[in-house]
Amino acid sequence: MQKIPMSSPDLTEADRQAVMDVLNTPMLSLGPKVIAFEQAFAAYTGAKHAIAVNSGTAGLHLCVRAAGLTAGDLAITSPFSFVASSNALLFENVTPLFVDVDPVTGNLDPQQAADAAQNPARYLPRRAPTDLRHAALKAILPVDVFGQPAELDKITAVARQHGLTVIEDSCEALGATYRGKMAGTFGEYGVFAFYPNKQMTTGEGGIIITDDDRAAALMRALRNQGRAPGDTWLSHTYLGYNYRLDEMSSALGIAQLSRLEQMLAKREQVAAWYASRLAELPGVEIPVIRPETTRMSWFVYVIRLQAKIDRASLAKRLETRGVPIRPYFLPIHLQPYMVERFGYRAGDFPVTEDLGRRGVAVPFSGVMSEAQVEYVCAALRDELLALA
Ligand SMILES: *Cc1c(COP(=O)(O)O)cnc(C)c1O
Repeated sequence: MQKIPMSSPDLTEADRQAVMDVLNTPMLSLGPKVIAFEQAFAAYTGAKHAIAVNSGTAGLHLCVRAAGLTAGDLAITSPFSFVASSNALLFENVTPLFVDVDPVTGNLDPQQAADAAQNPARYLPRRAPTDLRHAALKAILPVDVFGQPAELDKITAVARQHGLTVIEDSCEALGATYRGKMAGTFGEYGVFAFYPNKQMTTGEGGIIITDDDRAAALMRALRNQGRAPGDTWLSHTYLGYNYRLDEMSSALGIAQLSRLEQMLAKREQVAAWYASRLAELPGVEIPVIRPETTRMSWFVYVIRLQAKIDRASLAKRLETRGVPIRPYFLPIHLQPYMVERFGYRAGDFPVTEDLGRRGVAVPFSGVMSEAQVEYVCAALRDELLALA
């Protein structure tokens, strides 16, 4: 039996050597590599500033701080995401105004976002720790789910109309384009992440892009314990964090970014191998790429099962064949701490919940071979048949 990993980083000897080279210097943090990584990343995305941090979550949190969102404010976002996109708001006691998602892409539904911007009171959670009747809607935080950009022209139009800051969570969409423009560049802030299962990795890591000089300077200070330019090691202008990306991670980031196009192309090939084998498989829907998505950046490969298929049984059967699968995503509003804090219930966001019930990520990475994809698909075919 083969054992197929859920995901694998795409690492070369040159990548490993780049990290080793840093370890042969005394400078393991706050050195030249993080600066070079930021410059390379800004050049790649065309952004004025890139601010490297030690996770995508940290990056989102700094954007929330830089955007001036504070306790009691509201921000429109999606319950169909990785929890970090909402958590970054909750860290500052900003209340997420969830709106449901597009059933095809799983991305924030722009019509509902427009309605929520018009009538925020209608979208308040049924219970909140503080009185939100007079809370101000300040931002919108779309997520480019699974590597497909959200409907960013409509979302930015809503933001412009209502004076909202856009924080684009592009942690799953590095390199994707929407109508020819790069994901992460649509709002005031864009955030990317480099956990090992992402399109490129630095181990842990993330980066923020923005064209705003003031915000960039503030975020650089906040990631470094609140030290403003001119502050000494023990003087702190702001309440800050240690969100710094170290030199080893930055060196790996430079090396990985230089191969990004090639790595994205490999992932696209693996996705195509899956599509050709799974398209006709009964009970399975494969990802749909919208025409506005001028480039998909494959993060995970998520299929949707027919509602009657028992996902847990399928997972158990596939496990015995060395094939892991994962439910993707479990809706944010139904996570225990969200239910406790805001009183959400099953049924609140039906599309999100339907996608959450039927979505399954299959093993995926840029280093998968066609034989491995074939093995996964054959196992899926057999076990779906056995369950039917
Ligand atoms: C990966 C990811 C993040 C950031 O994750 P970290 O593990 O903190 O780097 C944020 N949002 C989404 C949607 C993600 O997929």
